[in-house]
Amino acid sequence: MSSEKNYAQSWIEENKERIIAISDEIWRFAELGLVEHKSSSLLIKELEKHGFKVERGVAGMPTAFIASFGNSKPIIAIMGEYDALPGLSQKKAPYKEPLKPGQPGHGCGHNIHGASGMAAAIAIRYAMEKYGVKGTIRFYGCPAEENLSGKVFMVRDGYFSDVDAAISHHPSSMNGATLKSCLALNSAKFHFYGKAAHAGGSPDQGRSALDAVELMNVGVNFLREHIIQDARIHYIIEKGGTQPNIVPDYARSWYYVRAPEREQVEFIYKWVLDIAEGAAKMTRTELRHEFIGGLYNVIPNRTISEIIVRNMREIGLPEYTDEEIRFAEEIAKSIPPEMKIEALRRTKRPGWERLIDKLIDDEIPDPWGEGDVSHGSTDVAEVSWQTPTVEFNTATWVLGTPGHSWQATAQSGVGLGHKSLIFAAKVMAATAIDLMTNEDLLKEAKDEHRRRIGERKYKSPIPPEMKPPLDFWEKIGT
Ligand SMILES: [Zn+2]
Repeated sequence: MSSEKNYAQSWIEENKERIIAISDEIWRFAELGLVEHKSSSLLIKELEKHGFKVERGVAGMPTAFIASFGNSKPIIAIMGEYDALPGLSQKKAPYKEPLKPGQPGHGCGHNIHGASGMAAAIAIRYAMEKYGVKGTIRFYGCPAEENLSGKVFMVRDGYFSDVDAAISHHPSSMNGATLKSCLALNSAKFHFYGKAAHAGGSPDQGRSALDAVELMNVGVNFLREHIIQDARIHYIIEKGGTQPNIVPDYARSWYYVRAPEREQVEFIYKWVLDIAEGAAKMTRTELRHEFIGGLYNVIPNRTISEIIVRNMREIGLPEYTDEEIRFAEEIAKSIPPEMKIEALRRTKRPGWERLIDKLIDDEIPDPWGEGDVSHGSTDVAEVSWQTPTVEFNTATWVLGTPGHSWQATAQSGVGLGHKSLIFAAKVMAATAIDLMTNEDLLKEAKDEHRRRIGERKYKSPIPPEMKPPLDFWEKIGT
């Protein structure tokens, strides 16, 4: 390993207590997307302490920021997230018990996401200074990944346009840097307006907005047979009336439409809009359609994934204490074996069968999944259309842990999570240094990026005048 990389590793090793404390603090804050005020301030303060220049309130979001060090090319971006999920509060215990009932929790491990990226950026900065490495390291503080929005606005407003490559890390139950893509997405709410009336005495005078919501759902459920298998459509009814003896004069549903390619999403989405209009017509109600946001699919990058895997192997996987293993074993008891097997199978990782009887992933696989899609979505995708980008994973949770669960919240705040955090920070620092110091590698990553995009053009899925939904959480309750 080069001296620059070694130096960055030792900086992370020497400062690991502080790095873990920051991750734990963000875990405790557990703030929702776009209101991560304490979490973003904590990261900003730390980055400033280490000489980073920070631009706050990026792209109209008070909790988005860019911290940079250096002022020449190449520009390497490290991305960090720090938003929690509603209702997933959980104690640092191997059984289900909320810390604050009903409150948010870090069920996707974004406390680690933010801290690992911050630590890597600081370590790189010291290695750059000591060895005179040319370039710029930028840490992108990206809010609201769970509301699928932060990076969409940052990309639309041009904040990634001069970046040469981007890396980020996401906690997982597996190690790896896959070549999979994910689903592009549209999110929208459907507001139906009818007429209230006594549901028993004079229903003929009423026009039910809830009927419209239900008929739209029926229409969409019939649509499923006639769209591509990889598409996903899901909805909730956010508002369905007040009480049964009043014909609901207002009702609202919230839909996600997902598919592997952006144009497939747009095709299905248009059909869903037609169905919504049909439902309004059938019920003689009025429809208002509110576009919430959209995402692209991820463009993978083999060149960067291979560098990441090489660095993972050189650094070596973390070792666990007996206490950490005991905690992991307790958590594992809450995951039914058939669920674990399905979760492993779904990854299509070559040799996944070997993991069935294992507690924690102890392998570092070659990049896999070329041409395959995972059925989630992420706003990392937007960045991946601008510049070569890879989001890699490290084992933070025991194998089979469901995403967005109490088990994931608990493990993201204890030893397993801490070990994964330090390991990921080292891998990220080493990879960014490789890209900064090896022109050929960076060129290869960029050529590959150009090849993969081909003739396709990125057009922001959100309109130019659209503002970040800063009132997102207030509106949910209305
Ligand atoms: Zn996540």
